[in-house]
Amino acid sequence: MSWKDSAAYKAYSALGERPRGLEPWGVNNAGEVVIGLGELFCRCNIADEGEEVELCRKSRFSHTGNLRSYVKTAHKMQVAEVRKGTSSGSKGIEAKKFYKAIIKKHDALGADYNPNSEIEQTPGPVTPSKPPKKIHRPLVPRKKDRTVNKSQMRKTASIGK
Ligand SMILES: [Zn+2]
Repeated sequence: MSWKDSAAYKAYSALGERPRGLEPWGVNNAGEVVIGLGELFCRCNIADEGEEVELCRKSRFSHTGNLRSYVKTAHKMQVAEVRKGTSSGSKGIEAKKFYKAIIKKHDALGADYNPNSEIEQTPGPVTPSKPPKKIHRPLVPRKKDRTVNKSQMRKTASIGK
């Protein structure tokens, strides 16, 4: 199944306003905005430097191509070119995951979420939760007093001999 046929992309492309909790675009090494496959909403950060992120309020575009040319002309930003054939394979899987995450966040934030409320400049009621950091166990075996357990290391090293 193509990423375009996924439930998440269908939900995304049916939205009238940009999904809640959308993150601003990333920029590649060449300083170009990287617009993903099938994106329809502008994700330009229009806040002044040093201020809290505020996304462009432009409503949904009918086609990614329109969004791309709009970003170039309206925001005067360089847009990374899409290579041919990128709509299949790993890029397609990436796109599927991308829209799934967007819709999940959009649903989780709820209808009363308004990050750019003009009345109050307070953050929305729901803070998107970040995935828990992975805890890396130390590779060196240690005793309870945190000193290196040399006999344990020797044992590990001799495994397979
Ligand atoms: Zn915009």
